[in-house]
Amino acid sequence: MKKTSTRSRARRRAAPAPAPGTFCVVGAGVFGAVVAERIATKLGAKVLVLEKRKDAGGNSRSFFDPATGIECHEHGSHIFHTKDAAVWDYVRRFAAFTPYRHKVMLTSRGRVFGMPINLKTINDWYGAAWSPDEARRRIAAEIAREGISEPANLEEKAVSLVGRGLYECAIRDYTAKQWGRDPRELPESIIRRLPVRYDYVSDYFDTPWQGVPADGYGALFRNLLDRPGIELRTGVDFRDVRASLPAGTPVVYTGMPDELFDFRYGALEWRSLRFEWETVPVRDFQGTAVMNYGDASVPYTRIHEFKHYNPERADAFARPATVICREYPAAWKPGAEAYYPVNDAANQARFARYRALAAAVPGLRLGGRLGSYAYWDMDRAVAEALRLFDRLARGEPDPPAP
Ligand code: UDP
Repeated sequence: MKKTSTRSRARRRAAPAPAPGTFCVVGAGVFGAVVAERIATKLGAKVLVLEKRKDAGGNSRSFFDPATGIECHEHGSHIFHTKDAAVWDYVRRFAAFTPYRHKVMLTSRGRVFGMPINLKTINDWYGAAWSPDEARRRIAAEIAREGISEPANLEEKAVSLVGRGLYECAIRDYTAKQWGRDPRELPESIIRRLPVRYDYVSDYFDTPWQGVPADGYGALFRNLLDRPGIELRTGVDFRDVRASLPAGTPVVYTGMPDELFDFRYGALEWRSLRFEWETVPVRDFQGTAVMNYGDASVPYTRIHEFKHYNPERADAFARPATVICREYPAAWKPGAEAYYPVNDAANQARFARYRALAAAVPGLRLGGRLGSYAYWDMDRAVAEALRLFDRLARGEPDPPAP
């Protein structure tokens, strides 16, 4: 992989145009890196990867903190987890994964609970010692009191899953902080990400395979992109160079579709985040990688403590210093990092119009979390990238929007 980083707009324009026959992938996050790897490896073609940021990795980028040696996830915790055997086989060609299994705790109402809600959370909340069946009966009675037959929003869905008490403790205020909206104004699909369990399984994810890359996310991305045929140019905005691409260059664009079309139909709305970093002179700040905060009075949603992702790195783990990061949800405005799509009807309709515009541009395909305006985990980004590559290799068009 040749890597070039250009600084000024003038130099960017002067960067050599790719040879005819080259594919262009815009964005070196998970989706873009996988598509680029597949094109280079399977088609033996050249791929120019253009990345706006200073490095590849997208939101899963990490860095090793020089003072403590701790690998920190720059955009908040990223744990690779999947149920998809093909995705798991694919990623493990580029990285070994640690056996880390994600656990999340929740501080709320002056107490600490396990998340997602399981039998321990239920028994802790009710101060009870219920068996699975007893807990089911008690929660079902709570839910029945609400009389919700068809949940129409996130609040109704959550209450119909766990009852009002646990909803208020674990979900209502966290969700309102995270999305900047009353949960009654949010789609129920968001809460379907969280399992509810009537056993003591405490894993956050219901996936058989999970872990973090043993040598860090940087190594995973180097192994994907560092191969003959791929040229990665960082610090390059596609809009500055697209005019210099040979006519007919196939483009896989993983950036924001509204930006690509100069916000013709208005901006797609996102939710953003702000991270506040701190190195604390203690060995262990909170005893776990992620502590959620369920109270409205605490302005952040969670604290990440990154050393817990890598207990096998004994030196950094034992050192009396730890890097933490408080995650504050933030309103999004053009130019801010776009983290979560606001998937309401108006935004979905706007996205459909951008998708139609893109479909009319020969050789252009949209993909990735930004390009698909989708709330995906990393494994979904890999799966979708592999699917897009298959269509590309067969010369098939992308399917119409669902
Ligand atoms: N959620 C919650 N309480 C929590 C954790 C999550 O209510 O302690 C809700 C919240 O609405 C959030 C959704 O569950 O948007 C999905 O959470 P997840 O942890 O999957 O979000 P991510 O890690 O992608 O930010």
